[in-house]
Amino acid sequence: MQDLCGRNIDYLRLSVTDLCNYRCRYCMPESGICKRPHHEILTIEECIEVAEAAVSLGVKKIRLTGGEPLVRRGIVDICRALRALPGLEELCLTTNGSLLQELAQPLRDAGVDRLNISLDTLRPDRFRDITRIGTLEDVLSGIRAAEDAGFRRLKLDTVYIGGFNDDEVGDFLALTREHNWEIRFIELMPMGPCAAWDRTCFLPVSRILEQFPELEEIEPNGVARRYRLPGAAGTVGLISPVSHDFCAQCRRIRVTADGKLKGCLHSKTEISLKGLHGEALADAFRQGILQKPARHYLAERPSDTPRNMNQIGG
Ligand code: SAM
Ligand code: SF4
Repeated sequence: MQDLCGRNIDYLRLSVTDLCNYRCRYCMPESGICKRPHHEILTIEECIEVAEAAVSLGVKKIRLTGGEPLVRRGIVDICRALRALPGLEELCLTTNGSLLQELAQPLRDAGVDRLNISLDTLRPDRFRDITRIGTLEDVLSGIRAAEDAGFRRLKLDTVYIGGFNDDEVGDFLALTREHNWEIRFIELMPMGPCAAWDRTCFLPVSRILEQFPELEEIEPNGVARRYRLPGAAGTVGLISPVSHDFCAQCRRIRVTADGKLKGCLHSKTEISLKGLHGEALADAFRQGILQKPARHYLAERPSDTPRNMNQIGG
């Protein structure tokens, strides 16, 4: 279905929980969040109904996210049910990778097509520092488990943070020489805990091209401009929501774990889907797509959403 700007909305990001086993400094408060009562969170059946309604309106790709989607009880069942929806072409999942050692194979068997694994640093001490809880080795083992389970062309998502990991770009690029992965550098967006961070933390990813002029441009994919080191097996993606917004090409719509439809990650406007079924649910989706904001204003001011990223899903 098209929105009022003529954008074809065919991609749903569905959050299945706002809980997480990490506390990344830019995403969540150190104390974590209060667990919501069960009745506020979409049930497995409601997640499936929401996905069905979206697919009936032309959504072809669904990405499950969170919080950390792999801490959601029943995640494998949700994946299996969504993959069976007629008309859905691609089921993807974004994870911090920490639980993939146990879950990569069940997710693959349930029909998940693609995985994005978030990884902001290759240094164990920095990893612990940014996640406050996590262990780098868990994620590296998770990446190996994903490959063993048959996931190919993994995307590794790295939030590019000035003064934290901007000196590791070369180490990340080196991974693409041997591995058929896409390493994607994403600009830090000023929202939630990081909205008040020093401006020096917010760097345009175009700096990476200045630093590594040997990167050769290849065809873009969605919102990522893509590059390759000469002869490398893998690729590099640069995603610049702040310095070079891609709102005019945005095909996404989002549903939060508490069942709020969001036309834009950074907008305050939400439509509650909880308790809606059948035609009423589809109508709410139509309304959300028609009300999708034309753009965000991140280049001018912090995000308008009062939510932290774990409460939306990225
Ligand atoms: N827990 C999963 C994970 O970390 O991959 C999925 C949810 S997480 C909110 C989705 C993505 O959003 C992660 O790659 C995370 O690094 C990214 N993210 C969180 N806050 C961000 C921010 N302020 N700017 C840019 N990316 C952010
Ligand atoms: Fe959890 Fe992902 Fe947020 Fe990190 S970025 S705290 S892993 S939801």
